[in-house]
Amino acid sequence: MESSAGSSVVMDRDARVEQTALAAPAGETCPSCGQSGAREWLRAPDRLHGRDEEYILARCLACSLVWLRNAPQPAEMQRHYTAAYDQLIAAAGENSPGRWRARNEALAPYKRSGALLDLGCSSGAFLQSLCGKGWELFGIEMSAESAKLAKRRSGATVFNGDILEAEFAPNSFDVITCFDVFEHLYEPRKVIARVAQWLRPGGIFYVLVPNIDSAEARVFGSYWHGLELPRHLFHYSPASLRHLAESVGLTTCSLETRRNPAVGTSLRYVWDDLFRAVGVRRTPAAYLKEASLPWRAGRRLTRITVLKLLLALAPLAGGGESIHAVFRKQ
Ligand SMILES: [Zn+2]
Repeated sequence: MESSAGSSVVMDRDARVEQTALAAPAGETCPSCGQSGAREWLRAPDRLHGRDEEYILARCLACSLVWLRNAPQPAEMQRHYTAAYDQLIAAAGENSPGRWRARNEALAPYKRSGALLDLGCSSGAFLQSLCGKGWELFGIEMSAESAKLAKRRSGATVFNGDILEAEFAPNSFDVITCFDVFEHLYEPRKVIARVAQWLRPGGIFYVLVPNIDSAEARVFGSYWHGLELPRHLFHYSPASLRHLAESVGLTTCSLETRRNPAVGTSLRYVWDDLFRAVGVRRTPAAYLKEASLPWRAGRRLTRITVLKLLLALAPLAGGGESIHAVFRKQ
């Protein structure tokens, strides 16, 4: 599914025309490979918060990178990171120790000790999982509160601020990790160039991002929960992520997609729009309280059946929802 008019029932037509006129893309070049003539990929609003502003994604025909054409200015971005959103992210991080164990295991074949920097370390759950295992720990985190918490719980040296403002010396790290953060960055090419500089020769960059070419993204189009507009500024496929990393001199050790389905959220977005088409505004997903038992059971049943279908389609329609990639500096 390459484009979608899914949000058309939501947007006021005049507002849509005006926004389209503002985002004039003539001669737009790809921020990764420099190819010109990117074309519109799809349009969607912030479905998590149930907002109306429409966002436009463009796709590079050469390297397949997808980016947000009309991204909010950095100064305005705070409006899109609500307290409800922060709570969802924090809960997901704290409630999944298995996730951190799996990432430790994924690192083990490459590095078992040394200096490790986690980009966007949040409140430090991953760093904490590495405590007492022979690592010297570092983090970078935008939120002052999260940075302080990360420092306290993991003992890591945490820089509070933007990644590009951190002043680490070249060849400082054996491992740099970046989980569910890279897609939020305004300047991914500059950041990955900095990563290549900060790594020691033989050092590893372990990165996780959502997969814009996944089966779920293709099936749901503008309703795919992984779009997270406008907080996700870039959307990667295995090919575009590899291209970006190799363009700064990193080599690919492993690059695979894994299933990380949240079909329930994507389905909810479809339902939200159907209800809105008949004049009913439901509570946006970000503000939902815990659902009642019958609703949860129904949701679980739908998830299982839809998921089965998706899994059957996956080999035809695309890979898993998240890309796990390990790159090395020579
Ligand atoms: Zn490109």
